[in-house]
Amino acid sequence: MKHIKITFFFILALLALTVKAQEKPNILFIMSDDHSAEAVGAYGSRLAVLNPTPTIDALASEGMLMQNVFCTNSICSPSRASILTGQYSAVNGVTSLGGKVAKENQHLPNYLSEAGYQTAVIGKWHLSTQPLAFDYFKVLQSQGKYFNPDFEVIGRDKNNLVQEEGHSSDVITNEVIDWLKNRNKTKPFFVKHHFKAPHGPFDNAPRYDTYLADVEIPEPASLFEEGNHGSLATKGHNGELKPYIGSSVSGRARRSCARNYLKKSDLNGDAATKEAYQIYLKKYLRCIKGVDDNIKRVIDYLKEEGIYDNTIIIYTSDQGFYLGEHDYIDKRWGYEEGARVPFIVRYPKAIKAGLKSDAIVENVDFAPTLLDFAGIETPEVMQGKSFRTILETGKEPKDWKQAAYYHYWLHMAHHEVPAHIAIRTKTHKLIQFYGTSNKSTNSKDFNAPTPPAWELYDLQKDPHEMNNVYGQPEFISTQDKLKKELKALRAEYKEDDPKYAINKVINEYWDYTAEDEQKAIHISHEYKAERIKNPKKTRKKKK
Ligand code: CA
Repeated sequence: MKHIKITFFFILALLALTVKAQEKPNILFIMSDDHSAEAVGAYGSRLAVLNPTPTIDALASEGMLMQNVFCTNSICSPSRASILTGQYSAVNGVTSLGGKVAKENQHLPNYLSEAGYQTAVIGKWHLSTQPLAFDYFKVLQSQGKYFNPDFEVIGRDKNNLVQEEGHSSDVITNEVIDWLKNRNKTKPFFVKHHFKAPHGPFDNAPRYDTYLADVEIPEPASLFEEGNHGSLATKGHNGELKPYIGSSVSGRARRSCARNYLKKSDLNGDAATKEAYQIYLKKYLRCIKGVDDNIKRVIDYLKEEGIYDNTIIIYTSDQGFYLGEHDYIDKRWGYEEGARVPFIVRYPKAIKAGLKSDAIVENVDFAPTLLDFAGIETPEVMQGKSFRTILETGKEPKDWKQAAYYHYWLHMAHHEVPAHIAIRTKTHKLIQFYGTSNKSTNSKDFNAPTPPAWELYDLQKDPHEMNNVYGQPEFISTQDKLKKELKALRAEYKEDDPKYAINKVINEYWDYTAEDEQKAIHISHEYKAERIKNPKKTRKKKK
């Protein structure tokens, strides 16, 4: 009798545990690579008329759309590391491409496992350490390929890759659905579904070759209008560095759509820019169509399983992207299109349909928020904060952050964007281009200093950042206040650590006196002379 009693209570306890586990929501974290919020219909930009993302838009209308979510470093590996750790780059150490996050520091999956979740990451990963904290992984090595991609798979040697046939968006989604089908159904799941698309070189699956073929894609006004955007840091003295800084749609820069896509064309000037823009946007939007259609497949599976409403579904991107705004392509710049990310959450059990929030949120806040939904307090080691309350009520708690911090560390690499720091509030953005390579990172790029300068944008009057008002008398008090806040954030996030050599230059040009500006003009001349002397040396040779 006693044994029967014990067994009975044991079964009861087990049942209670199982029920409790199932009460926790499943988490489907879908992240694409370089998907600008401008190219998500629900964000209502100029591209919304093309209806580029019907599935993602439906998630937004059934859930919450966050309007002011930012990555803290607009490039693949650092952004992914911040999401994984809940930490800023200076603390997690991933300041440039392909950095390392050891298994014990992969905090998000570690804590979710502890809370009883079964965890997986499938698709793009882009860190040089494997995702060993997950129960399962099947990830692309580095950037991975668009067609017939190779995967690193749990339990196999790092170089013993498994190839899958097809377009990466289709293949990655197949893998996610397979994993869901075979999951341990007694546990809640956390799966990171990471697309490679729409990252360059923007190769779509053949079935999208004719999508938008006869449509004229709307251009941003700033494709041709320069206005008073930018500074000595981004254009050089009197525009002398325009051919050398950034990458462009027009043929202005070394890397550009016009040079890349119009090799056999007779077009030039504005006609070439217009044509290159159309080619660029169609390639990009065809990749996004593939992402959107594949998300529908996963949602259909969740509906069939009866777990659609018990799953927190998030759609986001590792960073934004320039689609011809200011004639830029790629990401990196701390302007709106690169730093802002789409962030949409559907979870009808706790989040009302059709909510929108303009609360400032950073990607370091994602991990604390997911842990909060899983019933775990934000661990000390994380620098981000949970915004669960904002998702559930649409309202910001009293002490919620009012500014996002930004730091692009990788000076003049790949797309030749100078290193910079920034602070972004709901009303303004202040940027310091310090223009120097951080010697303690492993950058192998051509990294001569570029001219330091500051930029300030009044986002209420000037949401497209067409007018740099830094130094104008009516903005001096705002500028000083933002500098103080920026300094405080840098200290709080341990970004001002003297072990980073760049901090000397950041401080040197902090007040930016007339004398500093003269020094910056001199650097502009020197940089131009160096590029003329070495026209082909855009990257330092590997040692
Ligand atoms: Ca990316």
